[in-house]
Amino acid sequence: MSYPNTELLINGRFCAAADGRTLEVVNPATGKSIGTVAHASTEDLQRAALAARAGFETWRKMPAYQRGRIMRDAAGRLRANADETARLLTLEQGKPLAEARGEIDRSADIVEWFSEEATRVYGRIVPARDSATRNMVVKDPVGPVAAFTPWNFPINQIVRKVCGALAAGCSIVVKAPEETPAAPAALIRAFVEAGCPEGVIGLVYGVPSEISEYLIAHPAIRKISFTGSTAVGKQLAALAGSHMKRVTMELGGHAPVIVAEDADLALAVRAAGGTKFRNAGQVCVAPTRFLVHDAVADEFAAALARHAAELRVGDGLDAATQMGPLANTRRVSAMRDLTSDAVDRGAKLLTGGASGSEGGNFWQPTVLADVPLDARVFNEEPFGPVAAIRRFSTLDDAIGEANRLPYGLAGYAFTRSLSTAHRLSQDVAVGMLWINQGANAFPELPFVGVGDSGYGSEGGPEAVEAYLNTRLVSSVSV
Ligand code: NAD
Repeated sequence: MSYPNTELLINGRFCAAADGRTLEVVNPATGKSIGTVAHASTEDLQRAALAARAGFETWRKMPAYQRGRIMRDAAGRLRANADETARLLTLEQGKPLAEARGEIDRSADIVEWFSEEATRVYGRIVPARDSATRNMVVKDPVGPVAAFTPWNFPINQIVRKVCGALAAGCSIVVKAPEETPAAPAALIRAFVEAGCPEGVIGLVYGVPSEISEYLIAHPAIRKISFTGSTAVGKQLAALAGSHMKRVTMELGGHAPVIVAEDADLALAVRAAGGTKFRNAGQVCVAPTRFLVHDAVADEFAAALARHAAELRVGDGLDAATQMGPLANTRRVSAMRDLTSDAVDRGAKLLTGGASGSEGGNFWQPTVLADVPLDARVFNEEPFGPVAAIRRFSTLDDAIGEANRLPYGLAGYAFTRSLSTAHRLSQDVAVGMLWINQGANAFPELPFVGVGDSGYGSEGGPEAVEAYLNTRLVSSVSV
C-alpha cells in the first residue's frame, strides 16, 4: 500500500531538508518501515521562522472575511480527501480507519467553526470621563506562532492550533509529530491549496527539543502552543517565559470518573468505556481513574471488563478492528510496567494485561479492579488502554481522590441526582467535566486544563483570544 515520503513546508513550498536528512516512519500495526520524513536543519528552521514573519504581514492585513473564506475552502479540501488522508493516518498512527475518518470529519468542522469566528474578533469602546476623549480597546494578532503537536491525534491537534492562529490573523510554523507525519502534511496541503499565502503556514519535523529550543528563542516567533506531556510542557513554558512569549499549554491528565450509587451503570460503561478505549486510550482526556461507589463497584467492574474483553483488537486497516495498536513501542512497555506494578501491589486483573499478538505495538484492553492508591497507574497518566478502578463510600472521599493529583484536565461523573451533579460541578477541579456522557469536544466549547494540565483554551472564543493582544488607543480631540 503506497505511503508518501513527507517533506517540510517552508515559504509556501514543500521541500526536502537543506542537508537532505530524513527519519524513518514505521507502521505501528506491523513494526515495518513505511517511508521517511524530512528532518529539518537549523538552516531550514531559520527560513521557516523568517517566512512566518513575512507571512504574518500579509495575513494580518487580509480582511477577516477573506481569511475565513480560505479556511472554509481548506475544510472542503480536507473533506474531499478524507478517505485517502484517513488511510495515511491509520497506516502511520494505528487507529481504526473509522476513527481516523472521524478525526478528519471533526477537524473539518473545527476549521469551519473557526473560519466564522475569524470575523467576530471585536474590540470595544469604553465610555470616557470627558466628552473630548475616545477610548478604544483593539484586538491585534499576537504575531507568528510556533506550535508543537503530538502523535495521538495528528490532524486534530494541529487543526486546533492552526485555526485559532489563522482566525486571529497570525501566521504559524507547526512542528508536527515525526512518528505520524503524512496525515499532517495532507492537512497543511489543504490550506496551501485553498490559497493561504506563502509563509502563513509552515511545517517542520526533526528532533523536537532542538526545534523547540530554536523556534521559541527566535525573535520572529511571538507565541508558543504545545500539546504533550506535563514534564515537557513545563520545560517549554519556562523557556518561553525567559523570552517573554505568550503560551498555550495543553498537557497531560489523569481523568477521574465518579460513578455514583444512583448512576445508570449501562450508560456509564458504554460512555466511559467507549471514551476509555478510543484511540487505544492514547487520549489526554481519556477516563483513567474510575472511582465507583461500593454498592455498585463489583457490577460496574464486571461490566467494564466485559466491554473491554469484547473489543476487537487488530490492524486499523481491517474494517472489523475496534482498537488498533499503540502508536509506538514506548507505550507498550509503559502498559506492561503499569499493569504489573498494579498487580504486584494487589490489584485484580479482570481482563487484558498482555500484548496478545506478535508484531506491532499491541496491548489488550485492560481492566484492573481494587487498585491500591500507591499503584503507579493511579498516579501517572497511563496514556494507553488500561482502566484502573477503586471503590469509594462517600462523595467527599470520591471528590478528595479526584482532586488528589496535580492534573486537572478532564473529569467524568455518572449520577441521576441533580444535587450530586451540582456538587461535583463545583468541587471537582478539572477544566472539563462531562456528566452522564463520554468526552464531547466540540469546537464551540472550551478545551482547557487547570493545574498541571496547562492553561489556555483550544476551543470556543477563548481559543482565538489566546492569539490576540489587547491594546488601548485613547484619543483626545483638540
Ligand atoms: P514525550 O513527553 O517525549 O513527548 C510528548 C510529545 O511532546 C511528543 O509529540 C514529542 O514530540 C513532544 N516533545 C517532547 N519533547 C519535546 C521538546 N523538548 N520540545 C518540543 N516537543 C517535544 O512523550 P511520548 O512518549 O511521545 O508520549 C507519552 C506521553 O506524552 C504521555 O504519557 C502523555 O502524557 C503525553 N502526551 C500527551 C498528549 C496530549 O494530547 N496531551 C499527546 C501525546 C503525548
